[in-house]
Amino acid sequence: LTYSRKSPGLHIIHIAAEMAPVAKVGGLGDVVSGLGKALQRKGHLVEIILPKYDCMEYDLITDLKALDVVVESYFDGQMFKNKIWIGTIEGLPVYFIEPHHPAKFFWRGKYYGEHDDFKRFSFFSRAALELLYQAGKKPDIIHCHDWQTAFVVGTKHHFIGIYAAKGFNSARICFTCHNFEYQGTAPASELASCGLNVHHLNRPDRMQDNSAHDKVNPVKGAIVFSNIVTTVSPTYAQEVCTIEGGRGLHETLKSSSKKFVGVLNGIDTDAWNPSTDNYIRVQYSADDLQGKAENKDALRKLLKLSSSKVTQPLVVAKASANTVFLQDQHMEPYGATLCRVNVGCITRLVPQKGVHLIRHAIYRTLELGGQFVLLGSSPVAHIQREFEGIANHFQSHSHVRLLLKYDDALSHLIYAASDMFIIPSMFEPCGLTQMIAMRYGSVPIVRKTGGLNDSVFDVDDNTVPVQYQNGFTFITPNEQGLSNAMERAFQYYIRSPESWQQLVQRDMRLDFSWNSSATQYEELYERSVARARAMTRV
Ligand code: ADP
Repeated sequence: LTYSRKSPGLHIIHIAAEMAPVAKVGGLGDVVSGLGKALQRKGHLVEIILPKYDCMEYDLITDLKALDVVVESYFDGQMFKNKIWIGTIEGLPVYFIEPHHPAKFFWRGKYYGEHDDFKRFSFFSRAALELLYQAGKKPDIIHCHDWQTAFVVGTKHHFIGIYAAKGFNSARICFTCHNFEYQGTAPASELASCGLNVHHLNRPDRMQDNSAHDKVNPVKGAIVFSNIVTTVSPTYAQEVCTIEGGRGLHETLKSSSKKFVGVLNGIDTDAWNPSTDNYIRVQYSADDLQGKAENKDALRKLLKLSSSKVTQPLVVAKASANTVFLQDQHMEPYGATLCRVNVGCITRLVPQKGVHLIRHAIYRTLELGGQFVLLGSSPVAHIQREFEGIANHFQSHSHVRLLLKYDDALSHLIYAASDMFIIPSMFEPCGLTQMIAMRYGSVPIVRKTGGLNDSVFDVDDNTVPVQYQNGFTFITPNEQGLSNAMERAFQYYIRSPESWQQLVQRDMRLDFSWNSSATQYEELYERSVARARAMTRV
């Protein structure tokens, strides 16, 4: 199995269920490739293991080929063969596991949401570990992401004696939970399928769910057994240690506090770069914003939204003293003649994202005289239905368009075309869309929670130095809170176009690259590896 370590750096294996841009559902996919590339640039040998899904973007994998090896792994009392494929995604070597199991675990036309997800991913986790040790790999770090790969941690812990006897080294395990809402909890008996001992693991100090004692919780197991546990922002790390935020795991996390840390995600600044982005109509930069106005126009044409100037008074606040009337000669930022503020929103439509507030933002934007474009889809049937209703209602409206699908190419154009970007989340582990939006000069309007609290600082917050003020925030998760932040944003845009332009430029120049987050991961890995080495010397 091809790659070997050439540099003095660490050998790091990421095991995950997603990787952008090939198999992406949300931020997890972005993190695996963004962090992977940043660590590779720092001189480490980084390899990724993914399931071989039928529905991946195969065009984006370079040199995909089946290896001439078969990896056998245990499941439900039998050994199954796994075909191993290798390819390169954006310069990173990736192994794909194709199980030869009659249930065709990754041949379902989708990534998640199957009745047997627990089986699918516990199979994958076991097979990934088998791949590593049957291939004789000796990584320093195995980095697992989310509950789908948390079984690797339990399996490695459980079989450590067996693996060690077969020459598998004692790699340090890092587990990152990208969202504590998803813990993969299932009846304890299901754990036996991948060869784990239910009796041994279904204990309060191990993998047993904290509220249902006949259930196992893969995320809890991973917290207990990993050497390093991270989540995706410092604020979220604090929130999940509280009874309100911990989704039942706050005590487990508190007792693991020495190894638990929040590291703010970065974004892939190569993939998200308005000055080189081929998905957008006109490339632009903080030094030349003209292209931004042209993208705005292109999106309007594409979605058949009105490009007409604003002729009606724009009511910015209900109190008449604050009502702002737009004049025809008024200039909008970027030097274009006045047209409407474009408010964008790109999101999974799930309760976490504040769907009721997203709905409110559509109507409030219209009242404020703006245009609203939503790109989102929902795995929750009633939310999808509700938004289909709203989409139909506005289907030929001049100022609102709802696109209920996943569309990476279109997302780039919306980031480029929007002036403001709405993220009214109930909770947000990190959130990437606010960082991407800022990189494209779209000013975020966000609820102060989780990673949004660590990356967006209010323009009107005098306690924050001006150079860090980059958006509009609100705390109370209700319509009033959001409306207030939107009104302040609209006022700023209309009343002070020059200041708005400076704000846009400041946002575009902020560094949300993976550099500093990857350095934090590197330090965590190195400290853990050094501790392990010190322990073996004793
Ligand atoms: P989460 O991981 O909770 O979905 P994040 O903000 O961390 O939220 O990451 C969301 C990522 O998925 C961003 O890259 C965003 O652009 C992308 N995304 C979300 N919904 C869509 C969609 N409907 N079409 C295209 N990209 C989307």
